[in-house]
Order: sequence, then C-alpha cells, then structure tokens
Amino acid sequence: MKKTFSIFMIIAAGLLLVSASIVNSEKGQDFLFQRLVKVVMTPPADIDDDSLRIFVCGSSSPLLDLNRAQACIAVVTRDHFYIVDAGAGSMRNLGDSRLPMQRLDGILLTHFHSDHIAAIPDMNLNSWAQGRPAPLTVYGPAGVATVVAGLNQAYQLDRQYRVAHHGADLLPVELGKLAAEVVDPGVVVEQDGLTITAFAVDHEPVSPAVGYRIDYRGRSVVVSGDTIVTDEIIAVTRNVDLVLIDALSLPIVKALERTVGELGMDRNARILHDIQDYHALTSDIAALASQGSIKQVALYHMVPPPRNYVMEKIFLRGLPENVVLTEDRMWFTLPAGSNEIEVRFP
Ligand SMILES: [Zn+2]
Ligand SMILES: [Zn+2]
Repeated sequence: MKKTFSIFMIIAAGLLLVSASIVNSEKGQDFLFQRLVKVVMTPPADIDDDSLRIFVCGSSSPLLDLNRAQACIAVVTRDHFYIVDAGAGSMRNLGDSRLPMQRLDGILLTHFHSDHIAAIPDMNLNSWAQGRPAPLTVYGPAGVATVVAGLNQAYQLDRQYRVAHHGADLLPVELGKLAAEVVDPGVVVEQDGLTITAFAVDHEPVSPAVGYRIDYRGRSVVVSGDTIVTDEIIAVTRNVDLVLIDALSLPIVKALERTVGELGMDRNARILHDIQDYHALTSDIAALASQGSIKQVALYHMVPPPRNYVMEKIFLRGLPENVVLTEDRMWFTLPAGSNEIEVRFP
C-alpha cells in the first residue's frame, strides 16, 4: 500500500514537472495556444439535427449586470438562425457559443428600446466578416426603418474603412449595409418548416411593440419581448412548449426604490417607480405559467437581473415549478417528435 502510494506520488510529481516545463517554454506555450484556438473556433456539432434550439444570448435588462448581456434570444435549427433582439453585450455570448454567424438569417426586433438594439452593429459586422451571403435584414414593427437608416449612417465610415483594408472581394460593400423590413402582427417568416409569427404586446408608451411565436416541426416557442401580462399574452402562450417572458420582480424593485429614496437618490427612485407598470410582473406570470398546457416558462430580461441566491429566491416567489430563471449562454433544446425540453446551463 505504502509502496503504491510512493509510486503514485513520484508519477504525479513527474507530470507536474512536465506540465510546468511545457507552460514555461515558448514552444509549449505556442502548442497549447494553437490547440486552444482549434477548440474555441470549431463550430458546435450538435445543432445539425431536427431540433428547435433556443440560445440565451442575453438575459438582462437596462439595469446593468457584469455577468449578463441585455435582451437577446437566438433561434437555431439545422437550416435557420434568427436572433430576437440585440441587447448590449449579446455578441460576446454569440461568439462564445461558436454559432455560425455567416448563417444569420435576420434579427427580429420586438421594439426599439436601447437594451434591444445596441448590439445590431456587432452582429452585422461579425456575420459580414464571416461571409454572410446577403444583407442582414432587421425585422421590426413600424419604426424599424428609422433605426436601420440611423445605424447605416452611423457605421458608414466603419464600412468604408473595413472594405478599404480587407478588399471588396472579402467584404462586399453591399453586404455590410443593413436592410429593414416592417412586421405587422401575423406571419413574418415561413420557410423550410419554420414559421415565425409576430403578435402585439402591451409595453405602453412604447407602441407598436411585438413578441414572436416560433413553430418548427411540431415544437413551439414564444419570446414575449417587453410586455405586461394581458389576456392576449395568456391566450398566445396557451399550448406553447417554451415561453420566454420578460420579468420584473415587484418585491425587489420596490425595495430598491425605497432604499435609494432613503439615500437621497431621488432620480433613481423615480425611474425605479416608473418601470413598474410596463413589464411582466412575476406575480402575474404565476397565472400564465399555471396554465397546464405550457411545459416550460423561462424568465429573461429580468428587472433587475438577480445577482445572488437570495435575489433568485425572491424572483421565484409564488411561481410554479415549471418556471426557470435564465442565464446567459443557456440552451433549450426541443427535439422534433417529442415532448421533451432539454435545459442546459452554461
Ligand atoms: Zn422595452
Ligand atoms: Zn427592454
């Protein structure tokens, strides 16, 4: 026993010495770095089947969080790749997921608050650089043309610099400019078994604002965008497999409002008060999630994003067991011909 232990210790010490000499030599560092790049740059192999997949590229709201990007949900199938909303920081998560940006079919905006549009230029640039074969279309309710025209103007010089540097053969000029397409409630996309349908939501005074329902091979997902829970939202989420809904925890926001008020931060207190009437309250989500027909409810665009276990517990207060809090880089997989939803945390 003692002898076996000694041999084990000698082998362990030897391995440690070898590892240290690799990490500390230039050749070893170059070798390790190249291996790492290969792993990091290889696209994920498991998106090539009949499943409908949802990737959380941003789970937060305008209230800042170091560990979360703002609103962003990617819809991925073997043949399609759409992104619902493009909140700040979400390109970082998409890059980390190694999703094939050159395959990006379009960005679907729910409305034009800054926390839903800030990363559009990053997504445009990355998909252009990766070889997207057509201009990137930004879908959204009336007003989308104004947003897209403004972005195209703001990034005109950036496009010029990049084409001058890399050449128009690598970066065709016309593919760097965004295209806009207005959506009304109704079918927005219908291709190869994928249907995306817009529906009106209530995010007053932001109007029009929409959410999207995605159907693919018998599986269904709703992404609410920013809305309060209305009878229409309850109707639109009935019988849906997975509902991603924006969520505001009133107990947390009211406590924040009270505390910053006591600290004399009146402007912050006023803003925290104003935001309480145009997001889905967790207390209202309880009724929606209790519809027996919804398999999974996932809270995203959380106001505020929970930062610790206590906040998570308050967020989930009163909610049934089919409700989960999302995290950035989380995956939901809905295989065709099944009732299953596989939830994968990062
Ligand atoms: Zn909003
Ligand atoms: Zn928002």
